[in-house]
Amino acid sequence: MAPSRILIVMVLTFSLHGHAAEVNKLRVWADPDKTRAVLDLTESAEYKLFTLKNPNRVVIDLAASTLDSEFKSNLKKSGLIADVRHGAPKPGTLRIVLDLTEAAKMKSFMLAPTGEYGHRLVVDLFGASKGARSSVKHVADVQKANRDVVIAIDAGHGGEDPGASGPKRTREKHVVLQIARELKKKIDAEPGMSGLLIRDGDYYIAHRDRYEKARRARADLFVSIHADAFHDSRVRGSSVFVLSRRGASSEYARLIADSENRSDLVGGVKLDEKDDMLASVLLDLSQSATMEASNAVAESILGTLKNAGKTHKNHVGHANFLVLKSPDVPSVLVETAFISNPGEEKKLTQRDFQHRMSQAIANGVRNYFYRSPPPGTWIAANRSYDRHVVSRGDTLGGIASRYKVSLSSLRRANNISGSGDKILVGKELVIPTG
Ligand SMILES: [Zn+2]
Repeated sequence: MAPSRILIVMVLTFSLHGHAAEVNKLRVWADPDKTRAVLDLTESAEYKLFTLKNPNRVVIDLAASTLDSEFKSNLKKSGLIADVRHGAPKPGTLRIVLDLTEAAKMKSFMLAPTGEYGHRLVVDLFGASKGARSSVKHVADVQKANRDVVIAIDAGHGGEDPGASGPKRTREKHVVLQIARELKKKIDAEPGMSGLLIRDGDYYIAHRDRYEKARRARADLFVSIHADAFHDSRVRGSSVFVLSRRGASSEYARLIADSENRSDLVGGVKLDEKDDMLASVLLDLSQSATMEASNAVAESILGTLKNAGKTHKNHVGHANFLVLKSPDVPSVLVETAFISNPGEEKKLTQRDFQHRMSQAIANGVRNYFYRSPPPGTWIAANRSYDRHVVSRGDTLGGIASRYKVSLSSLRRANNISGSGDKILVGKELVIPTG
């Protein structure tokens, strides 16, 4: 053995089990921070794990284990792992060797079965170069006082996925990117708010990568921009969607089973990797709060969209959109118009409509954050007043009771005389606070 051998002996506290574990799968994922290898086992097993140099490799010895004859691996040179080999250093011990592209630090743990998964041995590898970068990122992650509220803006589709097409072949992926860029400008122009484009070009991003990008940026909101299509070309108007309960609970199940990123899912609480129960309770709480916020933002945007033009429906829709499934970032999806409607297809390409649509979304977002500013943000510190853009159906009395202010102070703050309750749709009202 090489002299630079590091030996890590994992003595597990499992009770004795009579059966030999069988390893039937190796699954590997690489992200910018780490490479995760997961071995699927039929039983938990005692294991030893160590790294060797020249060439760099990780050796996993599993006691009383065998390799399934159908052993499968999704490995195609993923991240830090170049290859996988196996053997038997002594009878009854299964050795799996991961050949690495560079020296790596590692962390490993055994997971008990959950959901569709059985026993798993998880090995996380952190490369030297990647590790340095990720620690830099963590310093930057410490959020300043009076920080901006961050709005992740996701232009739907892109690249090989054109989205829907209009009768004149207008592509959804192009118009939604234009609207998304316009929305970022409007958001950036607001004090205390900044926009982050999830997609800024004609390329495709997987749905989970979209919301993961928002999560990594610690976004306070994720807004996905789309254009609808329907077989009846007369259908028109904009709509706002949030994730349905059912969609949320299936994603929740996946996250629990997966346990990836679980500690930051529950607000930075460090959880024992084996503590599934606590994680599931905390994650459930986090997700309920997220869904409640998503609903409130969606209502707010729907309200301002009603001023900007025709809305397709009068209420927020619920759908099982994968891109909305972030468990901890409130997420909404705006269908800006029906690209299948000839009139709306034309509008979608026009600067004026893109301008109006993005301003309406920005107003709805702003109204929400002035009502419920996250602690530590500029808006929370500087909200000497709220602002509210009047929607169709709003009354002064209704707005006063919504913000819990008296009708007379609302009138005074906005120089509204007389006793009428009608106000102009689109007018921006100042809501006194404190
Ligand atoms: Zn779409």
